[in-house]
Amino acid sequence: MTAVLDCVIIGGGPAGLTAATYLGRFRRNVLVIDKGWSRAKWIALSHNLPGFPEGISGVDLLARMREQARRYGATLEHGTIETLYRADDGLFLAKMGQNTILARTVILATGVVENNPPVTHVAEAVKDGLIRTCPICDGFESIGKKVGVLGNGEHAAAEALFIRTFSSQVSLLLPTGEIALSLETRAALAAARVEIFQVAVGSVAMETDGVTAVAVGDGVTHRFDLVYSAFGIVPQTMLAIAVGAAVDTANRLFVDGHQETSIPGLFAAGDLVRGLNQIAVADGEAAIAATAIHNRLSKILAQPEPSTAGLSSSRA
Ligand SMILES: Cc1cc2nc3c(=O)[nH]c(=O)nc-3n(C[C@H](O)[C@H](O)[C@H](O)COP(=O)(O)OP(=O)(O)OC[C@H]3O[C@@H](n4cnc5c(N)ncnc54)[C@H](O)[C@@H]3O)c2cc1C
Repeated sequence: MTAVLDCVIIGGGPAGLTAATYLGRFRRNVLVIDKGWSRAKWIALSHNLPGFPEGISGVDLLARMREQARRYGATLEHGTIETLYRADDGLFLAKMGQNTILARTVILATGVVENNPPVTHVAEAVKDGLIRTCPICDGFESIGKKVGVLGNGEHAAAEALFIRTFSSQVSLLLPTGEIALSLETRAALAAARVEIFQVAVGSVAMETDGVTAVAVGDGVTHRFDLVYSAFGIVPQTMLAIAVGAAVDTANRLFVDGHQETSIPGLFAAGDLVRGLNQIAVADGEAAIAATAIHNRLSKILAQPEPSTAGLSSSRA
């Protein structure tokens, strides 16, 4: 007979790996399936993660988190869950190629996908700190610098205003086309002395020590120390939506105080849930979800035996 896991975690970024460590330490049999595109991999050096005053790279952090989860018995596998289904008896079936994984509960920790700016060599520019995506993460490292914010409409405008906390030289670079900014937003930008330029995105170029962009109209080349990209993200909630979980208008999942979605037994943690895309938030949500799952299973199942720390993933 096919064994049933206590929990399958879909996604092995900070949220999924934190949940795996917690569930492993609760002596639950837990499997993490990850396709390996964590946004954390883009972090050259994070300075806002509690406990790492000298900073830590995303690659390093993920390696440490994987080691910690494995140490407590979690099984980690590379792969992609293509479909998720909840049977009438409440068990979840997750399909990965020819394999079907059976689990009593699921934590969806699939994150979001960044809409990259349409400029060449984005990965290198992010690594070099010339293109940035998250002012909450690294706005502090922009203090006193000349900053451009490249992106669409109100979202980019809000980001430019936020960055005024760190720099008095902030410009909003709107790609050519319709400029959908309200009068109120324009007034707020003017009050904060944020200049607005329309630029052809193709003119945005990476230099060794900065970024240049050519303004449409007068053709003047403007130079910035760095540019924040503000083209938004796409929450990876498709598996949950297919099971029937409720989402908001931005496709973010609704969860209760225990991180449970509107589908019983389906939990979610990390970037795909809320707007504050931060590792500390992902870790906290994962800890809440994992503890709720353990408590839930403790009520309906006998306590796990001390000898069940070793795990095996279950396949039909
Ligand atoms: C350039 C950059 C700098 C950043 N700097 C900081 C910082 O300094 N501090 C900070 O707190 N945050 C920072 N962040 C944000 C941080 O990376 C995210 O908040 C964090 O990675 C979210 O973790 P997560 O586990 O929710 O999602 P992710 O880390 O994105 O992990 C999701 C995982 O799920 C996998 N997946 C998706 N779908 C499937 C599927 N169907 N089957 C299997 N696997 C799947 C993905 O491939 C991925 O590996 C930064 C982000 C970027 C891009």
